[in-house]
Amino acid sequence: MKVCNLASGSRGNATLISSGKTNVLVDNGLSTRELNKRLDGLLNVDIKNIAGIIITHEHSDHTKGLTKLSNQYHIPVYMHWQSVNNFWDREELKNLAEVDMDMPFEIGDIAIEPFRLPHDSAYNLGYKMSDGKNNFALATDLGWVSENTLSKLVGCEAVMLESNHDVKMLKYGSYPAYLKARIASNNGHLSNDECAKTLVKLVRSGTSRVVLAHLSQDNNTPELAFECAKQTLEESGIIEGKDLDLEVASQFHPTKVIEI
Ligand SMILES: [Zn+2]
Ligand SMILES: [Zn+2]
Repeated sequence: MKVCNLASGSRGNATLISSGKTNVLVDNGLSTRELNKRLDGLLNVDIKNIAGIIITHEHSDHTKGLTKLSNQYHIPVYMHWQSVNNFWDREELKNLAEVDMDMPFEIGDIAIEPFRLPHDSAYNLGYKMSDGKNNFALATDLGWVSENTLSKLVGCEAVMLESNHDVKMLKYGSYPAYLKARIASNNGHLSNDECAKTLVKLVRSGTSRVVLAHLSQDNNTPELAFECAKQTLEESGIIEGKDLDLEVASQFHPTKVIEI
């Protein structure tokens, strides 16, 4: 299985997962033009060969480019009904897959297990994906890591986890108090510290590829997120570059392709 995050953050999210036979996209917060640009030359994937678009939640940074892409290329959209009901562009969306998004389902030869994440959207899902051999899980836009969330992430070879903000940058930054409280709440976004603590458990369970995702542009830097994870892991005897490969996803360009 191959995984590549194409964009990550509050200005747009998209992640490509390919089994070789089946390509799926998780979220589409990019314009079709930008998506095409970022897919160019990547894993020989053409937009026309995307078998499904799986949506985590209805927020616009995850759905901005969804309707146009799905309608133009007749790509089925997999989205929880509560998110659909609250999706700003739901009237225009033509190709909704009839799938119970609280249950595991399959697209081609990729098995997908949704799991609920705490966030201030109508509904939010993380996904565990398997090609029958290897597992990848993705969890962004979550206020905290519950036992249930952790149970879905452990044992996955590759994980993409939110590392949204540095607690101090958020606290002393310029955001209004209500927004700071929202982000820091259990229904907000995951801090670097919480992400790092979770990574220790994951690497001990066998995770060896990690992508830090959905970084705030105002309350974080790629360096801070990376160093926080690296240091916390080191304190537990886990060495970046040896025990795991750690990468930070960007708003502006794709990550390298993760092969598991
Ligand atoms: Zn988001
Ligand atoms: Zn969100």
